[in-house]
Amino acid sequence: MFTYRGNIHIHTLYSDGTGTIAEVAAHAAAAGLSYIIVTDHETLAGLPEEGIHDGVVVLVGAELNMESHHYLALGLEQIIPGNVDNPQEMVDRVHRAGALGFIAHPFEKGSPYIDGGKCFPWTRFPDSGFTGLEIWNYSSHWRGRATSVLRTLYWFFFNRRAAMDRPPPEGLALWDRYTDSGLRVTAIGSSDAHATRVGPGPLAVEVFPYRFLFRAINTHLCFKEKMSGDFSTAKEQIYSALEEGRCYLSFDQLHPGEGFSFTAAAGDGPIRAIMGEELTMGEDLRLTVTSPTQRSEIRLIKNGRLLQRRSGTELICPVAEPGVYRAEVYYRPLLGKPRPWIYANPIYIRS
Ligand SMILES: [Zn+2]
Ligand SMILES: [Zn+2]
Repeated sequence: MFTYRGNIHIHTLYSDGTGTIAEVAAHAAAAGLSYIIVTDHETLAGLPEEGIHDGVVVLVGAELNMESHHYLALGLEQIIPGNVDNPQEMVDRVHRAGALGFIAHPFEKGSPYIDGGKCFPWTRFPDSGFTGLEIWNYSSHWRGRATSVLRTLYWFFFNRRAAMDRPPPEGLALWDRYTDSGLRVTAIGSSDAHATRVGPGPLAVEVFPYRFLFRAINTHLCFKEKMSGDFSTAKEQIYSALEEGRCYLSFDQLHPGEGFSFTAAAGDGPIRAIMGEELTMGEDLRLTVTSPTQRSEIRLIKNGRLLQRRSGTELICPVAEPGVYRAEVYYRPLLGKPRPWIYANPIYIRS
């Protein structure tokens, strides 16, 4: 298996970001990313610039809707209008166009100190037709946590990691409810990078530059073959991993997420399924979660509930019955409590 670290949900000068696609790609290359997905608001203006830049596969989708119900549509050839009042209709149109769709920052809270408290949550969730949802959006989560000026300044200047405490629990619960109902739903982590410039002219400073966010919350894709050097093949590989949920998100600032895996096998036999995949219940089936560092607390979740927890680099669990199994890893720092770090898409074991 091959894994590729990349960043999803990025704004450029084509909407309210501050970098060109070429500049953003250069920052992604410096951060060691394999792919990025640009999603400017309601435009595909960047589409002609899709390609391989500085060794990074650059894909261009769009973020639909402005007032609420933001939706990442990936793989569109033409822009599709949003629909704030009936998001299911927009979701279905994106689906019919053959594109992937991700519910963006579903429970966004905003901050009384930023943009007058503006926020863009979802209130009418789709029943079907979408690919997945963002369970951890760096920029949106930061704003929701900025409810005290002093604490926010402390986080910003002295301890940024502390603000990214965990993915919003409402988002995790929504994901579990969807998968419990029989859907396959891909969870992703994202930056929602804008590199907003604050202050007058030459004195302006960039708040959360691209180069910072590309080392924060990333989505790692799992491929069975190496990523192709041919752009259109690589694009297909990336979108099919996202569509099937062969991916996990990692708060890479805590510790790089490379080397994580979540697989199912019968006894000591070959791997029968990896994260995102479906499998029929069979004899002697077991799940294995592997973490890249000893400083890990691995958790196996079944149908939204904690099933098993173990410290170290490996958790092996026999499967007693069908269910939706997913894995989380908490990073154990030298001091303090274990910190939420990696969230993997489920292995769906059906009867
Ligand atoms: Zn948004
Ligand atoms: Zn956005």
